[in-house]
Amino acid sequence: MGIEESRNTLIQTAREFYQRGWMLGTSGNLSIRTQESPLQFLITASGRDKGSLTEQDILLIAENGLLVEPSSLKPSAETAVHEKIYGHFSAGAVYHVHSVSAALLCHLHRNKSKVTFSSLEMIKGLDIWDPKAIVELPIVTNHAEIPELASEIIRHSNSSTPGILIRNHGLYAWGKTSFEAKRHVEIFEYLFQYNIGLAMLR
Ligand SMILES: [Zn+2]
Repeated sequence: MGIEESRNTLIQTAREFYQRGWMLGTSGNLSIRTQESPLQFLITASGRDKGSLTEQDILLIAENGLLVEPSSLKPSAETAVHEKIYGHFSAGAVYHVHSVSAALLCHLHRNKSKVTFSSLEMIKGLDIWDPKAIVELPIVTNHAEIPELASEIIRHSNSSTPGILIRNHGLYAWGKTSFEAKRHVEIFEYLFQYNIGLAMLR
């Protein structure tokens, strides 16, 4: 996928996620890797309405969060987290959303360091094909200092689950491609809503 196509994918995906209520109030950030070595990726700018991003709101970033092209806008405050995830996993896209269900799930599991999901057909959408598989999604503490948050995410993530929850904050999910990262966000959101619904039935 070329840079312009990736820019358009980010604009379109942000609009869809915004419409689903996962990126309200300018929250969240999405990125797509455009070059592996040295790393370069496109990321949404900070403080922009995710329902109506334009091409100028998608910034090209090199290592250490440096802007490749001049812009008056700032890259997302959480750019360092994206960079760490690209460095650690063979990800092609990293998507971060602030959904109500992610925050509620953290509240439901407030004394735990992970939430598990099993016996649901939708788990296959995470590329986990064993019907007996138990998916472990880590929950990490939220940190205001982004480098600290990035280290915490890398320390607690596991290679078999393409995502992590930040307590009372939101979800990070990634994939080999932008298509896969989007699917993973959608599957996690389904699992969150199922888990919350189940707790309400009890
Ligand atoms: Zn965030």
